[in-house]
Amino acid sequence: MEEVRGYEEERKRLVELLQRQGVSEGVLKAMTRVKRHLFVPPPIIDQAYGDYPLPIGEGQTISAPHMVAMMCDYLELKKGDKVLEIGAGSGYHAAVIAEIIGNEGHVYSVERIKWLVEFSKENLKHAGYKNVTVIPGDGTLGLSEHAPYDKISVTCAAPDVPPPLLEQLKIGGKMVIPIGRYQQVLYLVEKKNGVAWERKCDVVFVPLLGRYGFKTD
Ligand code: SAH
Repeated sequence: MEEVRGYEEERKRLVELLQRQGVSEGVLKAMTRVKRHLFVPPPIIDQAYGDYPLPIGEGQTISAPHMVAMMCDYLELKKGDKVLEIGAGSGYHAAVIAEIIGNEGHVYSVERIKWLVEFSKENLKHAGYKNVTVIPGDGTLGLSEHAPYDKISVTCAAPDVPPPLLEQLKIGGKMVIPIGRYQQVLYLVEKKNGVAWERKCDVVFVPLLGRYGFKTD
């Protein structure tokens, strides 16, 4: 599909901004390729390349580009990685991961809201990503069919690390997860012989709901 010239320039400016913030070359390259305007609802398409979160409906949001970039960098994604994402939302973050890990890798993304499963699937298809599978369900249970994973990216805030996610992470694997209800902190969790936790930064994410998440009532 022919790309509208204005979006390409806006995307370039966004990538330059992220470069000044110290984002790695690999992640910048991926973000240069992923057309964020294909993942935002049409009424707000002109805001697609702002570095802030955008509403995608029902109180859910597509994360700010710098947050997507930071989370990808913390995971140290590599070609061929098998990645589990919790919270597909618009599909944008999954697309950035998919660009980095390449066609030898695969992203499995679990989403609990049915129409967001459809929205993300459509967006990913339209943008041409074949190495992402969006699955409906409660992501706090992980996705045992394809476990273990090299990396896990949780894109909503949890009360604590859901035990199934830690179980489904490979030894030597890494997970990024925001924890907390009002005051949230992004953690990098590494599974070695034990589990190493690194506090990264304060963040704002929508809540992870479900069996090992916050309650829905
Ligand atoms: N990664 C997304 C942004 C996600 S917003 C993007 O790039 O657009 C967080 C998402 O997590 C929402 O879509 C919300 O519905 C979903 N979510 C919350 N709890 C969940 C759960 N238990 N399992 C799967 N998805 C969940």
